[in-house]
Amino acid sequence: MNPQPYWVAGRTATGDDVVEVRHPYDDGLAGATWDATPAHVEEAVAAAHAVRHELAATPAHVRAAALDHVSRRLHERREEVAALITAENGKPLRWARLEVARAVSTFRWGAEEARRWSGELQRLDTDPAATGRMALVRRAPRGPVLGIAPFNFPLNLVAHKVSPALAAGAPIVVKPAPATPLTALLLGELLAETDLPAGAWSVLPMPNEAAAALVQDPRLPVVSFTGSVPVGWGIKEAAPRKHVTLELGGNAAVVVAPDWSSAEDLAVAARRTATFAMYQAGQSCIAVQRVLVHRSSYDAFLERLVAEVEALGTGDPRDEATDVGPLVDERAARRVEEWVAEAVSRGTTVVTGGTREGASFAPTVLTGAPDDVKVACEEVFGPVVVVGPYDDVDEAFARVNASDFGLQAGVFTHDLQTAFRAGRVLEVGGVVVGDVPSFRADQMPYGGVKDSGVGREGVRAAMLDLTEERVLVLTGI
Ligand code: NAD
Repeated sequence: MNPQPYWVAGRTATGDDVVEVRHPYDDGLAGATWDATPAHVEEAVAAAHAVRHELAATPAHVRAAALDHVSRRLHERREEVAALITAENGKPLRWARLEVARAVSTFRWGAEEARRWSGELQRLDTDPAATGRMALVRRAPRGPVLGIAPFNFPLNLVAHKVSPALAAGAPIVVKPAPATPLTALLLGELLAETDLPAGAWSVLPMPNEAAAALVQDPRLPVVSFTGSVPVGWGIKEAAPRKHVTLELGGNAAVVVAPDWSSAEDLAVAARRTATFAMYQAGQSCIAVQRVLVHRSSYDAFLERLVAEVEALGTGDPRDEATDVGPLVDERAARRVEEWVAEAVSRGTTVVTGGTREGASFAPTVLTGAPDDVKVACEEVFGPVVVVGPYDDVDEAFARVNASDFGLQAGVFTHDLQTAFRAGRVLEVGGVVVGDVPSFRADQMPYGGVKDSGVGREGVRAAMLDLTEERVLVLTGI
């Protein structure tokens, strides 16, 4: 299998060290690429720095057309792209297809926002000393962006870096995750078909040490990072003068309120919880990890949840019938196994699942977990959900908040007051009413509080983050 070239300032290049990419399910070869050489990394960064003014001045219609083109081409090549995501990441084809559809939308939103992106004319003559003056206020890119992506959405989380950066006129150097570089490299093929100036974008697989060095490079004043908590906050500490956006982990909770109690309500809540606790083998930052159910519905809900979880198809992610595939590698599955064992040693019950085979971990429902075991208080990032009863909604909300994380929460309720209260008191970036916390539309502001991060993505929200107000004061008008 020929290694895929990487992208340096819009052209292809090859390196010295081949990186093999393994299929998580059977460890077969999914493809290969190279780690970018230090000379190529330098070339990409220098080009991003050199092109920054030109890209910011590139007409909106050119940047919008480029983003529309990528969106269209992703749609045209969707089956091929989805198969590649499945091959390198191990997520079932159906979820890979959904990821491609979302990336199509993420680029389309970038095109639309690029057309809309503007500034304002501000009058200054409210102050006598400023008579005859006005200010043109526009949002200008802070500078070239270093975009660092995780393995769990190899396409759409790269799209969430590239689309807003180019829409705002900022060059970007993308560093994909080591386990999943191939989809990002394929995205490079589509970007190379556009009229964007050379240097506007690069896609460079590289070891973590090389990425850590890039974090320090002053020519990339913005770091947009999605990944784990320790790496993310470490980057912020290492680059205190940069604008750093962190999209990190979580242990998302869902609350089933007392009014969400009919047989149909509980069936919906159980089905959605089962699906989104286990999708991508739990490897989503907003996968359902904790479920708090009002005691009046607890037994009925648990019975339905277990039935839904046991009905999920497990196995080879390339099979259309598979709902839950492997984790990204065996090491990750072993960690989940250890965490479940720790919970069991502290009195937790495994209602279903709990077993591992290679990189695959069976969809698992736990009850009776103490709040301080890892599966309850850390980010499990595996197909494991912890369920427990509560007596009072305020108690449930307090337990949702009793977490180091705060990405999103879900509240199943029909009651408007409960919905508003959730929006007010839950310490998270977003609350989803009537569904699990795992819902994300790609144009909505998205991000976390507390350990879960700082800054927001969602195309327009990311553009606000990547830019700052610059003022041109005009005299004599
Ligand atoms: P990770 O932190 O191990 O890696 C993320 C990226 O950082 C990779 O590209 C990696 O190579 C790079 N990296 C590692 N060390 C680095 C260093 N010292 N300097 C610079 N770059 C470095 O995370 P992962 O395992 O790929 O992804 C899983 C994590 O991502 C989970 O915690 C998950 O919750 C989080 N995540 C968050 C969101 C969100 O939007 N909040 C979305 C998806 C995933």
